[in-house]
Amino acid sequence: MLIDQQYLFAPGPTPVPERVKHAMNLPMIAHRGQEFPVLLEEVATRLMPVFGSKNPVTILASSGTSALEAAAANVITEGDDVVVIVAGAFGDRFASICETFGANVHRLEVEWGKACRPEQLEDFLKSLDKDVKAVFATYCETSTGVMQPIKDLGSVTKRVTNALFIVDGVSNIGAVPVDMEAWQIDILVSGSQKALMLPPGLAFVAVADTAKEVIRQSKSKRFYLDLNRYLASYESDRSTPFTPAVSLIYGAREVCNMFDEEGFENVIKRHELLKTMMREGLKAVELPLLTSDEDASSTVTAVRTVNDQTKQLKKVLKDQFAITLGGGQKKLKGEIFRIGHMGYCTPFDVLKVLSSIEMAIHSLEGRNVLGAGVKRAQEVWIDNV
Ligand SMILES: *Cc1c(COP(=O)(O)O)cnc(C)c1O
Repeated sequence: MLIDQQYLFAPGPTPVPERVKHAMNLPMIAHRGQEFPVLLEEVATRLMPVFGSKNPVTILASSGTSALEAAAANVITEGDDVVVIVAGAFGDRFASICETFGANVHRLEVEWGKACRPEQLEDFLKSLDKDVKAVFATYCETSTGVMQPIKDLGSVTKRVTNALFIVDGVSNIGAVPVDMEAWQIDILVSGSQKALMLPPGLAFVAVADTAKEVIRQSKSKRFYLDLNRYLASYESDRSTPFTPAVSLIYGAREVCNMFDEEGFENVIKRHELLKTMMREGLKAVELPLLTSDEDASSTVTAVRTVNDQTKQLKKVLKDQFAITLGGGQKKLKGEIFRIGHMGYCTPFDVLKVLSSIEMAIHSLEGRNVLGAGVKRAQEVWIDNV
């Protein structure tokens, strides 16, 4: 095997396009010099349609979790009642962060592998009968491969409460439609290393006007992640309060170029196709999927490991075919494996994963499935061209 041919299909980090790597090699610039404000403004504004945001997107030099923390720290004042939809490991993380900042957290527990239904949220909010400060949701619950009905959850939140609606879009912003105003999202956060085709190291926070006053008034202790500082620096001179990750921001500009060339609506369609090819291919080789078609994310697919053979698939793919998948997290550890198909990912990549899964099943179980999943996925692809 060629050692440099490694295939990364984890649900983050994801492969980085060659041209993005090149862009990140541009000479370093001083962030207090004259070039950086131009770069920052360009990227912050070109990301607006990707985040469905009416405001330029705030860029932090840290991983996705910092954006979750920023959202919580800048909204919560100790003792506030907040609701967190927990449908997997990342909802659970959001809840822990809120607890850290002293919120009175009401966890809406959803069965892992399912999406939260709008009626579920409505019943929960009504039965709470509290003045809820914010509702936190995860757009794509990466640990289960579930896409939540964010638009409907936003509309329930606003109909039943005066709460802010705060969304973690780390594992699908850059691959899916979103409209913060129409969907009534007040803060939307993401990270660089998933659908945005960048290395790890940037976090993004899109803040709607509706959240700005709350952020100004929150009494939580914060320094590096104080969004007021970022918003004020951007407003006054298109700068950041602390040293930005300049190279990654150059990379982000190249990602914007790629979105423009493909057309963002086509980026979204490509991910829908990748999802359908992957799911239909896996069904054709009789691997059980964790989520229903209706709840499935277009960026990550989770497969149940129902027997000893499927439990070994992930390792065989790595050892024999240099394909990296994701495992299960927390209570799904050992119960599933996950395939990321987001960002710099093509239909051919899906065929690559499916063909190696077939070979692995063939050698592990002696089940002759060679070509079955690939064929089904090809049919889906042909129907879409
Ligand atoms: C990956 C991920 C995060 C965490 O991002 P880090 O970059 O690892 O800090 C948060 N939420 C979701 C939904 C994710 O998929």
